[in-house]
This record gives sequence, structure tokens and C-alpha cells, in this order.
Amino acid sequence: MTDRDMATFQVGEQCPACLQMMRPGLQPWHRVCSRCTYEGSTLLVDIDVAGTADVVDEAMREEGLNQLRQSNFEALEADIARRVTAAGGERPRLLDVGCAHGWFLEAGRPDFEVLGIEPDAKVADAAVARGLPVRRGFFPDVLDASEQFDVIVFNDVLEHIPDIGAALRACMRHLQPGGWVIVNAPARTGVLYRFSVLMARLGLPASFERLWQKGLPSPHVHYLDDDSMQAIAGHAAMQVAAVRTLPSLTARGLYARIRADRSVPAAKAMLVASVLSVASPALRILPADIKVWMLQAKG
Ligand SMILES: [Zn+2]
Repeated sequence: MTDRDMATFQVGEQCPACLQMMRPGLQPWHRVCSRCTYEGSTLLVDIDVAGTADVVDEAMREEGLNQLRQSNFEALEADIARRVTAAGGERPRLLDVGCAHGWFLEAGRPDFEVLGIEPDAKVADAAVARGLPVRRGFFPDVLDASEQFDVIVFNDVLEHIPDIGAALRACMRHLQPGGWVIVNAPARTGVLYRFSVLMARLGLPASFERLWQKGLPSPHVHYLDDDSMQAIAGHAAMQVAAVRTLPSLTARGLYARIRADRSVPAAKAMLVASVLSVASPALRILPADIKVWMLQAKG
């Protein structure tokens, strides 16, 4: 351990899965559990509640993510709609935490009464302007104590929330009996993450930093797998009832997705996009980079 690692390592950091101590990982901000497979970070989350920052080019990101996100959201929404039923034959209620521009709310509208929560003021206002039911603020603060849902969805959100256990316990307070929590997040066991770990070990940490979203306003603070998700859910009296995967790459839109971070030069983005495009058929048969863990209350 270097002096720099020591300086940023805070004694008392605890694994949210097995509750043992975390220890320094591959970078000064990276943490690995001393007992289980959970990985975390000390990267600071600084969500733009005032809507003034411009680090990620929203328009470029929108274009890059659009095709993949739409097909993934449609597949996921159909899966959830098959599982979730509401009492009394009513339309089930769906809460989307960190709903961004409301794409998943739009996918869910045919089957659910939807509500979104979004902390980024500019993004939330844009969703409301498009007629979507979105509350500006943080989960669960903007909910009334009595509000209940049949399904609560975290699409690329839970891995950004430092106190993941508190978030799941809050879900339990707002779930109907038999309700679901859907966690759509990058998987520690995915091929891209494993490749980035290998590169970081070889002294090339760029892709590792990128997967953790280091330097972005809302970096990742957790990298989950099946075992750690099950353990974390267990502390909130929930269990993993189903697991599915989603594709993380399509050739179209890759360039825009990479270029959305303005610190990546155009030539480099083009090179990375073409390499990933060539590799993407192979990536489909390798361990999935995106997993969806579907949680339900125990018993
Ligand atoms: Zn652990």
C-alpha cells in the first residue's frame, strides 16, 4: 500500500454485502472486500441538483444511448409486466428512481401507473415539460410516507447510491406486499469489467476508471454480482427472485456514447468505437456486462 492509498483509505469502511472490512483495491479510490466478491469505491457523487453543470454533453449522450436503451427498456418492461400484478385488478403502480428524461416511464405507461423521481433539476424539468409524471428530488424524500408501489425500478441508479442498504430498506417501506425491486446495473462479472481489471493490473487504468465513471458527476460506488446482490438484498429482508441480462453494446451509437464525455478526443473515440464494434458479436456470448436483479420481500 502506498502513502497515497493510506491517505484516502478510511478505517471503518464496511462491505454492504458481508459486513466485513473493505481494503484498498487497484486504485486509490477503489475498494475490495476482504472476505466476499463485492467491490466499491470512494468516488464522490456530486449530482447536479441545480442543473448548471455541463460535463457530459447531454445531446451527444442522448443520441449514443438511444437505440440500445430503447430496445433494453422494452425487453425489461415486458418482463416486469409479466411478473407484476396489483391487488384488486387495478393497474400496478411503478416508481422509477432516477428516471432521467423519463424513457422507462414511457415504456411502462401501457402497463403501469408510472411515477418518476429525478434529482437533476434540468433533466427533471425537461421530463415534466414532456408531460411525464416526474418529481424533482431524491428517493425516498419526495414520497409521502403512505405512498405504495407494486414495483420500484433502478435503471443504472443503484450503483451510484452510496448507502445502498438504506435505499433498499426505503423500498421496503414503499412496496406493496409481494412487490418487486428491479436493479438494472453493470455486473462485476461482465467481460468488459474483467478486461478493465486486467488492463489496470498491467498499469493501464483508463478503461477501469471509465467503467467506474471516475471524474463524472455521478460515478459508480458499487460493482455488484449475484452473490453480493443477494446478500445486500437480504439485509433489507428481500431476496433475489430472478436474474436476467441485457446487451450493453450495439455498434450504432457507440461513437456518440464515447464522445459524450468531452474529455475523450474524437480520434480516440472513433478508434475505441470501431474496436468495440468488431468485438461486439463476441461480447454477446461472453459473461454479460449488464444484469437485472429482480428482488422481492422474503417469505
Ligand atoms: Zn464483503
